[in-house]
Amino acid sequence: MRSLLLAALLFSTPAFALDVTIGGKLEQGGLVIGTAPPGSSITVGERRVPAAADGTFFVGLGRNAPAALAVKIDTLAGETETLSIAVARRDWKIDKVNGVPQNLVTPDPETEARIAEDSKLLRAARARFETQAFYRTGFIRPAEGRISGIYGSQRILNGEPRNVHAGLDIAAPTGTPIKAAADGVVTLAHPTMVMSGGTVLLNHGYGLQTSYIHMSRIDVADGQRVKQGDVIGAIGATGRVTGPHLHFSVLWFDTSLDPDTILALLPAAKD
Ligand SMILES: [Zn+2]
Repeated sequence: MRSLLLAALLFSTPAFALDVTIGGKLEQGGLVIGTAPPGSSITVGERRVPAAADGTFFVGLGRNAPAALAVKIDTLAGETETLSIAVARRDWKIDKVNGVPQNLVTPDPETEARIAEDSKLLRAARARFETQAFYRTGFIRPAEGRISGIYGSQRILNGEPRNVHAGLDIAAPTGTPIKAAADGVVTLAHPTMVMSGGTVLLNHGYGLQTSYIHMSRIDVADGQRVKQGDVIGAIGATGRVTGPHLHFSVLWFDTSLDPDTILALLPAAKD
């Protein structure tokens, strides 16, 4: 009896001085899902992190996130606390891809300039802030197909080490429908980007975004609201690809997260 009571007391002892909870997946490529007293200001490093009206906030952990993260909470009542969050390291796969058009592995100056223009558009779209908590629908896998590439692997294209693979590849025939992973608003719909081809970016609020690339067809327009499961276009082989597939990525602002982790962490509610 006595030990039970003690256990209950220990369990109810808050880990933090303030009324703060930290959950999610605390590893590289993962996502911190926190709650703080509503109205608190949250800072990670130099960055101010927006919190929803109910105090929920997210912090995306990049593929190379450091082993510890300091999250500072300042409440409306003037209390303050800095939490140190341990971030687990992961081992990443090496992925060799051959047969990529050489001009896209090492672009010529003109292509390089177009890629820079595309990057500018992508950066601007990712920086757009959405205060509606669309993410509350949870997330679904956006297309049926074989998983042909995973998040975090180091890519060796035609024998040359290149960018880390920052998304999940789902291989399926051109024309296979792509669905919105969650409710959201379209912040970019571009049919002809050099590297990513047909590209759609959806914003789900508070930094959470999903992107869909190499599309053969785009069925949505910039600014449009979408519901989870709405068909937003179709799988294709546009941009830098060797065959038809969807490259699906999940972002927290400009940090790419592991889509598998987010799908497991924030699954769509079953109805
Ligand atoms: Zn990919």
